[in-house]
Amino acid sequence: MEFSRAEELASQHGTPVLFLSQSRTREAYRNLSAALCGVDLYYAVKSNAQPELISILESESGFFDVCTNGEIDVVKECGISADRCLHTHPIKRDSDIRYALDFGVKLFVCDNEDELFKFIPYREKAQIIIRMSIQNPGCLINLSQKFGIVPEKTYDLIKKAHDMGLCVKGISFHAGSQNENPLKYIEALDYCRDICEQAARAGIHLEIIDIGGGFPISYLTPVLSIDTFCRPIVEYISSYFSDYRIIAEPGRVLSGPSMTLAAKVIGRSLRSGVWWYYLDEGIYGSFSGKMFDHADYPLSLARPDDERYNSVLAGPTCDSIDVIYENISLPLLEIGDILVFESMGAYTVASSTNFNGFPKAKIVVVE
Ligand SMILES: *Cc1c(COP(=O)(O)O)cnc(C)c1O
Repeated sequence: MEFSRAEELASQHGTPVLFLSQSRTREAYRNLSAALCGVDLYYAVKSNAQPELISILESESGFFDVCTNGEIDVVKECGISADRCLHTHPIKRDSDIRYALDFGVKLFVCDNEDELFKFIPYREKAQIIIRMSIQNPGCLINLSQKFGIVPEKTYDLIKKAHDMGLCVKGISFHAGSQNENPLKYIEALDYCRDICEQAARAGIHLEIIDIGGGFPISYLTPVLSIDTFCRPIVEYISSYFSDYRIIAEPGRVLSGPSMTLAAKVIGRSLRSGVWWYYLDEGIYGSFSGKMFDHADYPLSLARPDDERYNSVLAGPTCDSIDVIYENISLPLLEIGDILVFESMGAYTVASSTNFNGFPKAKIVVVE
């Protein structure tokens, strides 16, 4: 969003404020959908559960990846039908399974034998996808440390599920979030090929390959265009999985670009030669992604050409960890100045808190 536009809207709505851009959200969905032609996109609600965002994606014919009863409530409130939803939490209580089944969700993810046992009472209604782990040490956020069965044991688990009388539909994986290496998907798909062949020999016909999320967006440094990033994945799929239903669980790549934050300088202090600026938004609010998601967000401000000073941008709470940027070179800011941060839609509001009595940023839908 243009700085002057964000500044104007911020004075109208007050700060801190997150602008949810309908056009950017649609553009992100359409770009990914074109780049992953033929792949059904299940938006990972975890990354940002804002109802307006979900409704935009639904109007683009999106599907939804939900993990919890709370996320089911959100999609239900948005009028999404259960047959467009997939339950991806590998660990569920019996009450969670029943909640999802009552809503009408059919597809569930499991990654261990105990979880499969939980589905025996529901084997007429539920279909299972087995989640495989895929290691990606080069990636900022590893999503295979906590969940997923190693590729070497994935077939055995599929066989066990089948022998329990469960309906096993396919394999899923998550190649790591903000994953900048498309070959990680190919590595995982290579394993899937072997596993599908092994299963077929045992008379188990898998139909779904779920390539998960992980697609990267540009923060401070640019990433490959989504088209270029997805090309090898799509080529691999069309060569080896043309008979399968391929689905993905994109979160960040859809929600990340959708929001722009405007925050205000509410105080400043020259401390040991460094300018400290205190904003009305920080680590406990929309910048929670700094902490949990290890993300840094591109900043724009007024007077970009003025002389610069070593500065710190801090949040409003009384906690010393509430610092957004240290050692950053900035023009001299005034109290009341607006700062604008882009790519603030993924894993930001989703994990923000009311710590210290500060309310969460307001969300305003634009365009
Ligand atoms: C978090 C998560 C996603 C979304 O990942 P992104 O990196 O945001 O695309 C998808 N699937 C599962 C199972 C997840 O836990």
